[in-house]
Formats: sequence, structure tokens, C-alpha cells
Amino acid sequence: MVRLSFLGGTREVGRNAVLIESVGARLLLDYGVMLDDEPGFPSHVRATDIDGVVVTHAHLDHSGGVPIFYLTERKPVFITPVTAELVRVLIKDFIKLSGYYLPFEYLELESMMRCRRDLHYGMKVRIKDLAFTPINAGHIPGSFMVDVEAEGRRILYTADINTIDTRLVRGARIPKRKYDAVIIESTYATQEHPERRELEEEFIKEVKLVLDEEGRVLVPAFAVGRSQEMLSVLYAHGFRRNVYIDGMAREVNEIFLSYPDYLKAPRSFMKALSTAKVVRGWRDRREALKRSSIIVAPSGMLQGGTAVYYMERLALDERSGVFLVSFQIPGTRGAKLLETGRFTIGDGEEEVKARVRRFDFSSHAGMTQLHEFLKGLRGEPKVYVIHGEEENCKALTDWAADELGLEAQAPTQGDEVDV
Ligand SMILES: [Zn+2]
Ligand SMILES: [Zn+2]
Repeated sequence: MVRLSFLGGTREVGRNAVLIESVGARLLLDYGVMLDDEPGFPSHVRATDIDGVVVTHAHLDHSGGVPIFYLTERKPVFITPVTAELVRVLIKDFIKLSGYYLPFEYLELESMMRCRRDLHYGMKVRIKDLAFTPINAGHIPGSFMVDVEAEGRRILYTADINTIDTRLVRGARIPKRKYDAVIIESTYATQEHPERRELEEEFIKEVKLVLDEEGRVLVPAFAVGRSQEMLSVLYAHGFRRNVYIDGMAREVNEIFLSYPDYLKAPRSFMKALSTAKVVRGWRDRREALKRSSIIVAPSGMLQGGTAVYYMERLALDERSGVFLVSFQIPGTRGAKLLETGRFTIGDGEEEVKARVRRFDFSSHAGMTQLHEFLKGLRGEPKVYVIHGEEENCKALTDWAADELGLEAQAPTQGDEVDV
């Protein structure tokens, strides 16, 4: 029997964490944070009680809480090299911004980095009576699903998956194994993504409209993954001038370039980066706004970061555009902008005059892809749906039960099941 404990990311997007236990081993799959005014953590696990942590990719909802295990202990952290370097940059920034609320410091981050056990896709890692294999998840460079074997059972943890190719990475393939259980994400379980090519064309058309009017385009995007995807899209469609990238972009770009193996098309990625101007400070920011330009800046949901600075300066300009390209968590400033067309600038709420559009450049599988994924798994796996808003977790659970006849549930935080 293998026990799964759902510690976080249940019926929500954020603080993903699953503990998997065999007779001999206890392995933690991700330990993320919920980014809110005050960061939220998954349920507590004692560092002495685990044999190691697997970090499936760099996003903080999967990696942000891991340093907590390095206050006293020195357990291995299983990670791809590119993810490890990205995690260092992201958690450092996280500590800088939210340090007051965090139970760890730079010191713990460094201890964590010293406990790295580097992985590559397809390699099998043994921990006591348990073994696991990372498999490309197609989400961002370095991301993987985890195939776990223990006690004669086989369990798949998808973490964040995307089964279609993007400009940046190759899509995930459905593993051809018989599974006893699958823990699957459901971020877009009730939503279809548009066809990628059409989406790109639509986006480019809108960008051109704004530039023709001498306006400025703000593309709020997270520094890791989406920003580089947007630069690649712009480059592929011939934009060579006045493309700016802000945020932690420089560090992140360099990390991606040091690990070309994780990229789908490293050469064109390199070219895309070299044509974009990296914003290095406030002077560059003002400069970028002075001309007709395309500015890619974090955060993707306009919750903070320099995107807010740009937004405040072009919101009232009807020639300009704000093109959201990320998932907008309900309640964020980005989600409110889409719903109401209004944005808070200084003390007041303003009607936004700039063109506001949303383009669904997701790095998560959409509804059909999630269905195809579950359908493609062999065996009759029990299905545990996490990493989605409550209605999405439930929708995918119902679909798996009704359409595939599988035993399925959307666990809540703290639930434990035996497989
Ligand atoms: Zn992610
Ligand atoms: Zn995630």
C-alpha cells in the first residue's frame, strides 16, 4: 500500500504539495506557496520525517516553500539543473518581497541549493523501497511529471502539464505505462484553449493595430516562461525593434540559454532574446514608454511588479493596449480589469481607455487535452484532481468518473488515501 497525503493545492491553484509514503520511504512532491498579501503554505511536515523533496518546476506554487526543510535538516532536493537555477532567482526575489512573513532566509535557500540532486528526464532515482522517474511535462523548461513506483504500485503525479508544443518547449507525451493512480492538475479543466496558430495571429494583429497608431503595448507576463514565450512569438512574426523586456528577465534569459537542451528551438530563442531590449532601470522604463513599443513586464496578473508602473502610465491612452496573456486568478487586479474595465491609479479608480484584451497563451493543458491525457493512460488508475479552482477540480473528477468509469475524487487539504 502507498499512502498519498494532499497537503496543499487542493481545490485551489497555489501551494501544491503531495506526500507519498511507502513502507520505507517518504517523499514530498513539490512544496509550493500561495502568493497572497501574506504567503500561504501547505500543511506542515517535519523535515526529519521525509527522505527528500522533488521539485517539478520553478514556479513558486510548486517550489516556494521548500527552503523550510533546510532550517536544520539536509535532505536531498531532486530537481533539474535549469529549475534549480531558476528557483534560486525566484525564491531570492520572494524572500526580498515577503521576507517578513517567511520562516526562512537566504541561508536556508543556500542550504537547499547545496542539497541538490540533479535530475534529467527519464533517469530513475531510488530512495529506499521507492523509485521515481521524471518525465517532460511540457509546461516550462525543466518541468517534469513524476512517475513513482513503490510496493508494486505505479503512480503518476502530473504537476503542471501541457501536451501541445509551445514556442519554448515541446509538449508532454502521455506516458505509456499502467497506472494505479494519477494525481492530475485541472487549471483549465472547464476551458478550451484556442488553436495556437490562430491565437498568435490574433495577438499579432492587435499588436500591429496599436503600433500603427503609435501606441504602446503592455504585455504583463511572469518572468519565467511566459515572458520568453511572448518574445519568441514576437520574433517569429518579424518584430525586431522596440521590444522591451522588464523584470528578472536578464537573469532568467541567461539561465534558459545555459540549458539549451530544455528548449524546443534554442537557436531562434537566442535570436529572439538578442533583439529584445532588456530594461535595466527607471531610465530604460521611461525610455520604453516614450516611443511606440511593446513592453513585456511582470507580473502577469498586474498584482505588482513593473507592469503596474507601465499600466498606470498608459491606461488612459486610447492608442495604447494592455494585452493580458496569463491566467488571471479571481480577485487579482488583472481579473478585475477584465471584468470592469477599470484600474486603480494612485488614489482613484479609473476607466481604462487603452485597449484591454486577453489572449490565452497558456502553458497548461486545456479541457480537451486533460481529457485526452486521462483517456490515454493505461490501466484503471484512481484519479485525484488538484491544482484548479474548486469547480474545475470537480468538473474533471466528474468527467473521469462518468466518461471513463474511473474512481475519481477532488481531495481537500489534509486528505489521505491509500493506493
Ligand atoms: Zn507552473
Ligand atoms: Zn502550478
